[in-house]
Amino acid sequence: MSDVSVVGLGEMGGALARALINAGKSVTVWNRSEAKSTALVALGAKAPVNTAEAIAASPVVIICLSSYAASLDVLQQPGVADVMKGRLVVQLSSGTPGHARSLDSWVRAKGARYLDGAIAAWPRQIGGPEASIIGAGPEADFALAEPLLRVLAGNVSYVGANIGHAAAITNAAMAYFAGHWIGFAQGAAISEAEGIDPATFGEMLSGIGSMFADDMLKMGRAIADNRFDNAEATIKTITGDLGWLAEYAGDLGTDTAFPQLAADTFRRARDSGFGAEQHSAVVKVLRSPKPAA
Ligand code: NAP
Repeated sequence: MSDVSVVGLGEMGGALARALINAGKSVTVWNRSEAKSTALVALGAKAPVNTAEAIAASPVVIICLSSYAASLDVLQQPGVADVMKGRLVVQLSSGTPGHARSLDSWVRAKGARYLDGAIAAWPRQIGGPEASIIGAGPEADFALAEPLLRVLAGNVSYVGANIGHAAAITNAAMAYFAGHWIGFAQGAAISEAEGIDPATFGEMLSGIGSMFADDMLKMGRAIADNRFDNAEATIKTITGDLGWLAEYAGDLGTDTAFPQLAADTFRRARDSGFGAEQHSAVVKVLRSPKPAA
């Protein structure tokens, strides 16, 4: 038996397997395209050609593929269901809470244990202090996986028994990342159009990173308490600022979709009567009308 099997050796799965080998774990690997296991075998991994053998090889099986559908494809391969009983499947592919819930039911029906997780790191950070992994599912299953997860990431946290919550938190974070990525690229396009070096723009913004870390804490607290007084910047002020951004982005000939979306969202909040409240109150036009799950 190996300590752990890693199924999926793409950018992320390959980094997970490498970190486990480097930490002295005995590792069995499997990938649909066999070539991706060659470098890991040279480092000491075992690589059976048969998927069922790869899964049977370890008490813990880490799966990191492009989707839950891909994970199900692999788990439905011949002979796999017969060897799953008693194994702990740790699923680190990205998807939705619904995907996690249906894979959890499928895996448990085969007599295996299931922990759903998510990674917040670049592959090069795996095995280091900057990498984060969260896990959701039965606490005993998290406890079993935790020593291996701690090899992979400096920050490992358990987010509770609700099997969908790792995917839910990941999607919530993705909403933030999307704004960050599109917003930064829009600013870089504006910089270029004005003859300003985008690298200088990046250096300048990185200098105010701590201001946004502070803002995340304040926004989270305000939204949790549903209290939006004590405005340092009101919805009305930001609506004006974003209107200028949308106008200017158009004047320069840069794409206006993201500035328009931002300006329209704050304008809806202002026009709904929240103009005097702090910027976090924009959540009022984004919330789901459905009761919390
Ligand atoms: P990737 O490099 O594109 O690798 C995808 C992997 O999925 C490959 O091993 C591929 O096998 C396999 N695969 C896809 N469809 C399959 C199927 N139907 N049957 C069997 N294998 C299949 O992607 P990645 O960057 O490693 O990402 C893997 C997961 O990690 C994703 O869910 C991603 O969201 C998550 N993640 C990635 C990062 C990152 O920075 N890369 C960060 C956080 C989370 P082949 O090699 O045979 O094509």
